[in-house]
Amino acid sequence: MSCFDPLTFRRQFPLLQKNINENPLIYFDNGATTQKPQSVLEAYQAYYSAANANVHRASHVLSARATQAFEDAREAVKSFINAASLKEIIWTKGTTESINLIAQSWGGSQLRAGDEIVLSYSEHHANIVPWQLVAEKTGAVIKVLPLTDNGTLDENKLDEMITSRTRLVACAHISNVLGRINPLEKIIARAKAVGAVTLVDGAQAIAHVPVDVQALDCDFYVFSAHKMFGPTGVGVLYGRLALLADMPPYQGGGEMIQKVSFAGTSFNELPFKFEAGTPNIAGVVAFSEAVRFLQAQQGQGFYDYEQSLIRYMTEKLQNIPEIDFIVSGAPDIPVFSFTVKGHHNHDIATALDSRGIAVRSGHHCAMPLMEYLKLSGCLRLSLAPYNTFAEIDTVIGVLTAIIHGEEAELDADKTPAAPV
Ligand code: PMP
Repeated sequence: MSCFDPLTFRRQFPLLQKNINENPLIYFDNGATTQKPQSVLEAYQAYYSAANANVHRASHVLSARATQAFEDAREAVKSFINAASLKEIIWTKGTTESINLIAQSWGGSQLRAGDEIVLSYSEHHANIVPWQLVAEKTGAVIKVLPLTDNGTLDENKLDEMITSRTRLVACAHISNVLGRINPLEKIIARAKAVGAVTLVDGAQAIAHVPVDVQALDCDFYVFSAHKMFGPTGVGVLYGRLALLADMPPYQGGGEMIQKVSFAGTSFNELPFKFEAGTPNIAGVVAFSEAVRFLQAQQGQGFYDYEQSLIRYMTEKLQNIPEIDFIVSGAPDIPVFSFTVKGHHNHDIATALDSRGIAVRSGHHCAMPLMEYLKLSGCLRLSLAPYNTFAEIDTVIGVLTAIIHGEEAELDADKTPAAPV
């Protein structure tokens, strides 16, 4: 039974009630970051109003409150992704920092000259550059998995690319441009068969598919709070306990130590060994509210609604002959990437913006993918379950008018509808 009501859901996001450029905001840039619900904004404010202190340090009441809220958030994330232990949940600034931590700590200590790191052509720069940095230091070699025409990693190339020389396979759960779920089960099984470590970049998946790290059986899973209705500046690194235990610290400072002397320093237990300095306490606490918020929605109705948005949007875009899809057919999550014949991506994005419609154009931090696809960039419209069919109709109407040079006519009848 579906009990998800998109309009009730939508009403909880203050920014979605605003006008931009004198039109009701239509926010189709959720792949970049989602909007934040009132409850998350309030949790942030409430933390600073009633519990602000540093964590894990002092014996006073406020510090105890702050520590409790901070560690409750860790518990919330542990259960959200079904990790086996709280020690496996490390707070970071975001997906990017999580991957850098793994690359420098695990990669820097484990990789040797000639070891192979397998990535894919559809990776975000955050899952490429940290590996290039560590490869340069260690002499490890990066290999790149090709893609199928469907926009997923090519399963048929796994045996050839992932071999006894492979130490790490790192790929996105879902590409931020292609919007297709990668065949993780097969990739992880192949990596395990050769004894390689696996890292899944879940930045785009976390708000759209249920994630169970134990069922996935990956070694690392990373994501950002801000792409799932939480604040910016907070991320998660899930790591398998045995691997984390053997990894050296990433940064040194307060909190990550057990004992410091000039004769030598011993390190704190997990997860604190990887959390040097004062963390983003308010952000983490607000994030735990985002986790609760998302969990409360997650149910058949939530996913069904998202799938119905995908079907509707796909059909509407397919009816515009000038659109060239990056991958044909419906994506798995509501991420639609395309170019428009005879138009520059940026011009279209700017024209949409002038009507209050937020989309993204460019290389989407995936330059190697653009090169692979022989594109200089593309448009990306990415939706969330607070978006509506009426908004899709408006965007399609405005997009069609822009393509046909008929924007003036939009002004004449003030077409953009209120997003209900
Ligand atoms: N990986 C993917 C697939 C992403 O979409 C993003 C964000 N666009 C990142 C990594 C980086 O996330 P963040 O900027 O939050 O660190």
